[in-house]
Amino acid sequence: MAKVLIVGEIQGGALREASLELVAVARGLGGDVVSLVLGKGVQGIAEDLSKKGGGKVLVAEGDALEAYSADTHTAVIQQAVEAEQPDLILLSNTPNGWDVAGKLAAVLDVAAVTDVFRIEADGDGFLLTRRMFNGKFDAQLRASGRTLATVQPGAATAYEGSDAGSVEALTVSGLSSRSTFVEVRKAAAGGHDLTKADIVVSGGRGLQKPEKFDEVLEPLCAALGAQMGASRPVVDAGWKPHEYQVGSSGQVIAPKLYVAVGISGAIQHLVGMKGSNFIIAINKDPDAPIFEVADLGVVGDLFEVVPALVEALKQAKG
Ligand SMILES: Cc1cc2nc3c(=O)[nH]c(=O)nc-3n(C[C@H](O)[C@H](O)[C@H](O)COP(=O)(O)OP(=O)(O)OC[C@H]3O[C@@H](n4cnc5c(N)ncnc54)[C@H](O)[C@@H]3O)c2cc1C
Repeated sequence: MAKVLIVGEIQGGALREASLELVAVARGLGGDVVSLVLGKGVQGIAEDLSKKGGGKVLVAEGDALEAYSADTHTAVIQQAVEAEQPDLILLSNTPNGWDVAGKLAAVLDVAAVTDVFRIEADGDGFLLTRRMFNGKFDAQLRASGRTLATVQPGAATAYEGSDAGSVEALTVSGLSSRSTFVEVRKAAAGGHDLTKADIVVSGGRGLQKPEKFDEVLEPLCAALGAQMGASRPVVDAGWKPHEYQVGSSGQVIAPKLYVAVGISGAIQHLVGMKGSNFIIAINKDPDAPIFEVADLGVVGDLFEVVPALVEALKQAKG
């Protein structure tokens, strides 16, 4: 049975939801689960994680860990790996996860597979599935020996069990960093987290003008209880902030329902949403590539189709 080490990620003083998704992935493999929480003043977070399926939670505390640094985090994870000898090390596929994964793979001399959305046990190793070539293919990789993987946020549902674990201090040494933390600047808008939305309605260049997002798309979002997303040209033009962007250089999401409005379906967009449970596309071009991934396609003028859809939804709700 595989032993899995989960590296918890703390953001804004709390454990990221993505770390509880790692718990679900690790538990799905059926082996031992050990977690690591590192930072300053994180004992409470470690205790909480130990009650949420994190198994034995190692906690590394100290001033040197107050701010994220790839050097110090790599050193702590390396020491946790030496203490626990896991078969699989799981990090979230977040900017910090990517940052530390390559470095960690080098110092541990293990294979690193990034951007994974499925992991299965396979004999003495693992089968890991990830997107490749900007989402054109799903690739399955077989890894044997100790393996490190970064897992896409949203790839699993956060573990909701309440298995009691334990908390143990991990004594670490040799924490020095070649980079110095300066400051965290929060994005102005905030609170627009597409990775947590069940329904996302995204607009593309087909909407033509920024005000059309309020006039045409917002009523559809309201009728469906959806968060609004956007394609890159919309963000590049400054019509919507970057946190709205879906795609290879934006958010990779897998909501229950994704509605693409006036979006052509370029590969860089598809990579960000093709894992959605159900995809509806509205586009006037019947040959638009978005229809290749859509479960339901409407060929028509969005300025006619979307208001009609909003009206129908209102009537259906009474
Ligand atoms: C390195 C790199 C990274 C990238 N990252 C991303 C990314 O993260 N996310 C992303 O989205 N893109 C990304 N792109 C850009 C990507 O290649 C496409 O250019 C972009 O996705 C196109 O956006 P769009 O579909 O909104 O616009 P367009 O391709 O211009 O498509 C607009 C669509 O609207 C339709 N339309 C027009 N009018 C109407 C109407 N009245 N009714 C119905 N339909 C209508 C058209 O038929 C067309 O299909 C990236 C590109 C590169 C090179």
